[in-house]
Amino acid sequence: MLVVMEQNATQEQIDAVTSLIRERGYTPRPIPGGERVSIGILNNEGAVDPNPFLALPGVKQAIPVTRPYKQVSREFRKESSVIRVGDVSIGPGSLTMMAGPCAIESKEQALTIAGHVRAAGAHIFRGGAYKPRTSPYSFQGLGKEGLVILAEVRRQTGMPVVTEVMETETFDLVEEYADIIQIGTRNMQNFSLLRRAGRAKKPILLKRGMAATIDEWLMAAEYIFSEGNDQVILCERGVRTFVNHSRNTLDLSAVPVVRKESHLPIIIDPSHAAGLRDQVIPLARAAVAVGAHGLMVEVHHEPERALSDGAQSLYPEQFDRLQRQISAFYEILCRNGTMGHSM
Ligand code: PEP
Ligand code: MN
Repeated sequence: MLVVMEQNATQEQIDAVTSLIRERGYTPRPIPGGERVSIGILNNEGAVDPNPFLALPGVKQAIPVTRPYKQVSREFRKESSVIRVGDVSIGPGSLTMMAGPCAIESKEQALTIAGHVRAAGAHIFRGGAYKPRTSPYSFQGLGKEGLVILAEVRRQTGMPVVTEVMETETFDLVEEYADIIQIGTRNMQNFSLLRRAGRAKKPILLKRGMAATIDEWLMAAEYIFSEGNDQVILCERGVRTFVNHSRNTLDLSAVPVVRKESHLPIIIDPSHAAGLRDQVIPLARAAVAVGAHGLMVEVHHEPERALSDGAQSLYPEQFDRLQRQISAFYEILCRNGTMGHSM
């Protein structure tokens, strides 16, 4: 349940509500933003009786929360969240481009690709130091050395960096180096990792599990919120279907659904959805049209030599084309008001 206070409610009246919530054995969670204060009620099993709250002075409404996820739902927080990383914003009002190789392979490789994507207009550099590979014999990433290279990319280009964390043991290290910490599709329901992410001081990019429903995905985000971290960006990266013309099937419908159900920003990764570079640019255009707040795209200057995901990595000139196409496209959508609503 959400207790909505009157616009002119006093601090004393707000405190009385939070005390009553605690008295009943629940946890109060004040919701920031907006003109009035709202206080969410957490840790209740079953419905909460609204009447004792409605009887308190300064209380305007008590709204039941109907979804299983609470803090990430739009019922809980009406205003869309905007995540800020340095000068970059992710959320309504911007189209944030994250680009880079699948894996950091060497300093030279990372800096070369970073130079290209930066010049093309990317805002955030991506690259894995710890790689979740299907085969234990495939390249597993450079580990800490990869993180050090990412820090060098940030120093030389000014771009914030996003990189994946795979297990709780290396979380501290990844958190030290990354500007945004990615949780990959295979770990979307790794609950100990999600809880640790909830205690992180950095934003989390939570990819959708390849066979997860949107409810399961939002519940995974709720785990992160439940430990205190409300800096979460969702990333749709394709789901497993019966098709063999692509690696996964990009679920574009996830964007309007998530934007309706949740206040969190949602970006699209067309690279892992497609698995093949020919499909990446058309899917990226579709992602912008459907209202994604950004894109994450794999780019490699020598994809035929890439140690992972070469087939889906764009050549730098293709990324350049993608960037030009979608910026022009996004501008048109903004100009005619399609992107003009607060969501
Ligand atoms: C990645 O972004 O490098 C990655 C492994 O993606 P996913 O978890 O979506 O497969
Ligand atoms: Mn990849």
